[in-house]
Amino acid sequence: MADREMIAAAFTDAGIGQIWFDEPMARHASLKLGGPVDVLVAPENEEQLGRVVRILKEKGIAFMPAGNLTNILFTDAGYHGVVLWMKQMDKIQFLPGPDDEFVIEAQAGASLGKAVALAAQKGLTGLEFACGIPGSVGGAIRMNAGAYGKEMKDVISVVMLIDGEGKRKTLRRDEIKFSYRSADLPTQAIVSGARFTVRKGNTEEIKRRMEEIQKQRREKHPLEYPSAGSVFKNPSGLSAGRLIEELGLKGRRLGDVQVSKKHANFIVNKGQGTASEMTALIELIQDRARAEKGVTLETEIVIVGDKR
Ligand SMILES: Cc1cc2nc3c(=O)[nH]c(=O)nc-3n(C[C@H](O)[C@H](O)[C@H](O)COP(=O)(O)OP(=O)(O)OC[C@H]3O[C@@H](n4cnc5c(N)ncnc54)[C@H](O)[C@@H]3O)c2cc1C
Repeated sequence: MADREMIAAAFTDAGIGQIWFDEPMARHASLKLGGPVDVLVAPENEEQLGRVVRILKEKGIAFMPAGNLTNILFTDAGYHGVVLWMKQMDKIQFLPGPDDEFVIEAQAGASLGKAVALAAQKGLTGLEFACGIPGSVGGAIRMNAGAYGKEMKDVISVVMLIDGEGKRKTLRRDEIKFSYRSADLPTQAIVSGARFTVRKGNTEEIKRRMEEIQKQRREKHPLEYPSAGSVFKNPSGLSAGRLIEELGLKGRRLGDVQVSKKHANFIVNKGQGTASEMTALIELIQDRARAEKGVTLETEIVIVGDKR
């Protein structure tokens, strides 16, 4: 257990805004399940974020960043450390760029959807693929979020971050190694903001494309239930969802969590689901995929916390 009084005193002295102790993540995560984190803190700006990281580093306390919590599964036992929640750093601005290029600069906690909407409103093309991805800018970069054949790496020009020592750094896109649902950031680095490059486009076409994507998402994804999106990465050349269907596991229920009947790569919380039920269902799918298909299914969602 991170020392509550020591952290409270250190953060209060450093002038850090909102702090929660023993906060159940079921209250905030898109899955609506998950145990407590020792400390949840939401810095208001880059300077506070850097200060918090330096304090935690000095005191040897474990920490991790979180954005919109749409891709994290916190175990029922919870996380012993400090979660740096980026939600208060949510500014987005629009800057004219060279030639027909424009730049959208967003803080890490801003919703990706807001950046997509701003681009569309200004008739700028490039971000439409990301419409409907419910993450934050920082989380989307860390996960190299993607859909419809494009990923964050295709639109980012610069990433701003606070490194593990609490120092500010700026990296160009070509200085970061992106792969399928991952960005290789420096150890313990926290994205504080990013710039996206977009181009002048046709407003009507941009809106039509976004509506089409939203329609497809509503048809394919079980948006009526809490989830964390696709649970597994697609193995090379295969669809994880199709594989789960072939295993006969579509609709498989364990307690109150269920492999979605609409999309087999989603696991949904039907109401009172627990993280233990969800991890057990994940393991069951992985075991069956290995035994019956010889395929290793790797999770796309990030599982955080003690096992019990
Ligand atoms: C209904 C639904 C649909 C989805 N559709 C898609 C899709 O089409 N494509 C897709 O790729 N994903 C999809 N997702 C998954 C998820 O929305 C994305 O991965 C998203 O980018 C995660 O962003 P987040 O802010 O919620 O990250 P979080 O869940 O908060 O965190 C995810 C990971 O990123 C790290 N992280 C968060 N913020 C930062 C930061 N500032 N700096 C460094 N690391 C950070 C966390 O530590 C964690 O490891 C979907 C999810 C849902 C619920």
